[in-house]
Amino acid sequence: MEFGQSLRKVGPGLKTAVVTGGASGIGRAVAERLRKDGLQVAVIDLSPTDDGFGHIADVTDRAQVDNAVAAIREQFGPILVLVNAAGVEGFQKFSKMSFPEWSKVIDVNLNGVFHTIQAVLPDMVEAGWGRIVNISSSSTHSGQPFMAHYVAAKSAVNGLTKSLALEYGPAGITVNAVPPGFVDTPMLRSAESRHLLGGTVEDHINRTPVRRVGRPEDIAAACSFFVSDEASYITGQILGVNGGRNT
Ligand code: NAD
Repeated sequence: MEFGQSLRKVGPGLKTAVVTGGASGIGRAVAERLRKDGLQVAVIDLSPTDDGFGHIADVTDRAQVDNAVAAIREQFGPILVLVNAAGVEGFQKFSKMSFPEWSKVIDVNLNGVFHTIQAVLPDMVEAGWGRIVNISSSSTHSGQPFMAHYVAAKSAVNGLTKSLALEYGPAGITVNAVPPGFVDTPMLRSAESRHLLGGTVEDHINRTPVRRVGRPEDIAAACSFFVSDEASYITGQILGVNGGRNT
């Protein structure tokens, strides 16, 4: 049996996946896609889901994450797939950015990823198989004015991804990141309505080689591949899904 491809101690039943931020936007599309792919998918989010598989928890609170993970494990067995899509944006001139503003964005986008990965890793290590995908951001390619906290957090997520890929490759666990470009979700439309995008979504479409805004399903497709058995030789990769804007 090829290492990292077959489950060492877990039977061939449904694999359980957790998607954070799965109540909205990209996370919701990832949860739907992985379910179509045949995984048993549970969601961790601040908001409830309409599918009955949501666990309300704040990813910045380790006790809440641990409780949600324990409940999911109890119901569906070991968690072998994790997609971290929970996130918040923030817009502020750096000189006016308060430390609480900075900390909130770092806490959700970076520390939340720390908590969820640590909470599920034991299951993956025990199984000798695991898949982790972190949703970062295309803003990490070039930076973004007024989003220093967000870009710092998402860049750190890319670094965390590469480091964990090296650390857990020998355990049969792959860790990859998907930094999306502009994706049509409530987060993007809220930023547009507050005039924080430096133009409308339409303006950005005109500057995007494939001439459309991203769809949550575009990101879900990349996640679907990364978590598949076939992707066992791909780890530590940052796969931009951005219509060609950052190559
Ligand atoms: P969204 O606002 O539609 O969804 C984010 C989800 O995360 C929401 O359901 C929200 O309740 C949940 N969430 C927020 N804080 C949480 C917390 N503390 N604990 C648990 N859940 C929490 O946003 P989206 O556009 O779908 O974004 C998903 C991910 O993609 C985010 O990490 C975001 O930074 C990233 N991203 C989005 C875009 C884009 O254009 N939409 C671009 C680059 C990166």
